[in-house]
Amino acid sequence: MRRQIESAGDVRRFAALICLGVLIVDTLLRDLALLPGALTAVMIAAPLAYAMGQRLRANQRHAQALEHALHHDSLTGVRSRASLRAGVPGDTARPCAVIVADIDHFKRFNDCHGHAAGDLALRHFAQLLRENCRAGDLVARLGGEEFVILMPMTNPANALRAANRMARRIRQGPVFLDTGPQTLTASFGVAALLPGDTLDAGLQRADRALYRAKGAGRDRACLHDPTLDAGPGQTKANQKTSQFVI
Ligand code: GH3
Ligand code: MG
Ligand code: MG
Repeated sequence: MRRQIESAGDVRRFAALICLGVLIVDTLLRDLALLPGALTAVMIAAPLAYAMGQRLRANQRHAQALEHALHHDSLTGVRSRASLRAGVPGDTARPCAVIVADIDHFKRFNDCHGHAAGDLALRHFAQLLRENCRAGDLVARLGGEEFVILMPMTNPANALRAANRMARRIRQGPVFLDTGPQTLTASFGVAALLPGDTLDAGLQRADRALYRAKGAGRDRACLHDPTLDAGPGQTKANQKTSQFVI
């Protein structure tokens, strides 16, 4: 079993062990007097440096895998909720849109086709969202069957157009289960990230618009409208928005 180097004491013991090993090998090689000094040093240093290099490489790979796991959703491959904040452009003076997307009647889908089929539908949905975004947009899974799309340099009208396109593609692109193709629909809420806005504020407005899209019959996109969308504490959507505190 490989010994772990965890504490500062482990590091000191490891360094002492290496020094001792080098001394022993060096003494043996010099006693045998077979090799010149410089070559002896290279013979000792080369395997040590190689072993350390391999170890560093493995550590680097582990760190990259952890970083990827932190920033990506393991089921769908889109960005994770944890990485959303980093995706918000620092300069919110420029137009930035936020879309919240939610699969319609997904509980029913799971109940009818099973959880594994539900997972397949989630991957299919995430893939369709990604395919219908630009390279600079960020697609993340908020949790369950809810996703968010951040669109930098996009005004609300264009974001609404993009959300309607996504709704159409999802409606027209069934998920293929063992039992045959199954149509999914989704609802979308669109809002602008206003200058000086927090991400949470933008998400809450988009969620209120999503709530309206659900109420209007689902399978559609709605743009946040302060006169149509209720203020804080007045809708079921507001109860849901507590989950958006990221
Ligand atoms: P609505 O149209 O109003 O959004 O209804 P809904 O059924 O989509 O919404 P609801 O919140 O009632 O149900 C969401 C379902 O999503 C319930 C839960 O079992 C399912 N779900 C959440 N996470 C996962 C997951 O990772 N995999 C699968 N297969 N299902 C999930
Ligand atoms: Mg849903
Ligand atoms: Mg939901």
